[in-house]
Amino acid sequence: MPRTLATRLKAVLPSATLAMNTRALELKAKGVDVYAFGVGEPDFEPPAHVLEAAKKAIDAGASKYTAVSGMPALKKAICEATLRMRGVSVAPEEVCVSVGAKHALFNVALALYEPGDEVLIPAPYWVSYPEQVRIVGADPVVVETSEENGWRMTPDALSRALTPRTKAVILCTPSNPTGSAYREDELRALLDVLRPHDCWLVCDEIYGEIVYDDFKHVSPAKIAPDLRDRMVLIDGVSKSFAMTGWRVGWSLAPKHVTKAIETVQGQSTTNATAVAQHAAVAALNGPLDALQSMRTAFQRRRDVMVAGLNSIPGVRCRKPEGAFYAFADCRGLYGISWNGKPLASDEDLAFWLLDQAHVAVVPGGAFGAPGYLRFSYAVSEERINGAVEAIRSAVARGRG
Ligand code: PMP
Ligand code: GLU
Repeated sequence: MPRTLATRLKAVLPSATLAMNTRALELKAKGVDVYAFGVGEPDFEPPAHVLEAAKKAIDAGASKYTAVSGMPALKKAICEATLRMRGVSVAPEEVCVSVGAKHALFNVALALYEPGDEVLIPAPYWVSYPEQVRIVGADPVVVETSEENGWRMTPDALSRALTPRTKAVILCTPSNPTGSAYREDELRALLDVLRPHDCWLVCDEIYGEIVYDDFKHVSPAKIAPDLRDRMVLIDGVSKSFAMTGWRVGWSLAPKHVTKAIETVQGQSTTNATAVAQHAAVAALNGPLDALQSMRTAFQRRRDVMVAGLNSIPGVRCRKPEGAFYAFADCRGLYGISWNGKPLASDEDLAFWLLDQAHVAVVPGGAFGAPGYLRFSYAVSEERINGAVEAIRSAVARGRG
């Protein structure tokens, strides 16, 4: 059949997080002052020494291809940082640097999953996990979690979801979109369930540095070295160093898996941009005070955001352990009348909030949790307070 679209895309949804960002940007372009809680990216600038390193790299001629899996200096920096920050020792041959963590995950999907495979994904999940699995023709299998359990998958739920077709389990801790994170004992219990089952564990640790109070992120690779030969860790500089636009992320996987990933990448994007790789070296090797102050600011914002949301009648929000997302149960707002109809879904709520309060959020359905809204609170406290008041007035008007 000529001129048809590839059937593999039939079941694949566009990224809801990016769609919401586009909608908010369109409104902004029309001059509307939008409270942007949609897309998940830090509002901070990368540390000055990172920008300096990139400028120097340009002048020093970083204009050529690098090795497909990344410059040796960056792979070395990644190995050292992984040891320092996660207590996990990896070899450079286990690293493949990609064009962001999303790309690293896509490489993993192409290298590991195929039609007939099931990939377990606890819900609420980051929007791209199930879609990437679908693009390569495998089946995402959603494992429900509950807010009462802090949105953490229980060993029992994992055990019930595993089948002989389970090819991989994707864990994200701290999580996008809930901000909840697994404690060491909870992770250990999940790993105990996985141990007898021959499948991959893909662990997305991109928010590993963004944790609050005295919560400590623990990598599964640190506590289950015996399972390292089936683990793929995903990480990057996008979140912890506020470098979303630089597009540098990576996978850490056993050598033969990394080789397969390299083959995929060598036939698609080649290497991550050379200048961006230089910037990432500076980020990983440099002082971490910017990261520290970003974390302190995020923690304050989390507190303001969560308290603010909980002060709105009809909204309920759990206090997250990490990342920069507040995931609020907004079902109490259903029934408010808008354009002559009652609000009846999280999508309705998101459109209504954008229209009536100029607050951009992402509906929970996109993350497998209808009835919830995700607020990315990577914005100033003043803006958070402004948005909370705008929502409060919209609710009062709507109920009025
Ligand atoms: N994993 C998770 C859980 C994320 O939230 C994001 C955010 N975009 C990514 C991966 C992708 O990160 P990157 O921007 O490095 O592609
Ligand atoms: N991860 C961020 C989010 O969830 C960035 C957007 C994206 O890559 O999907 O909003």
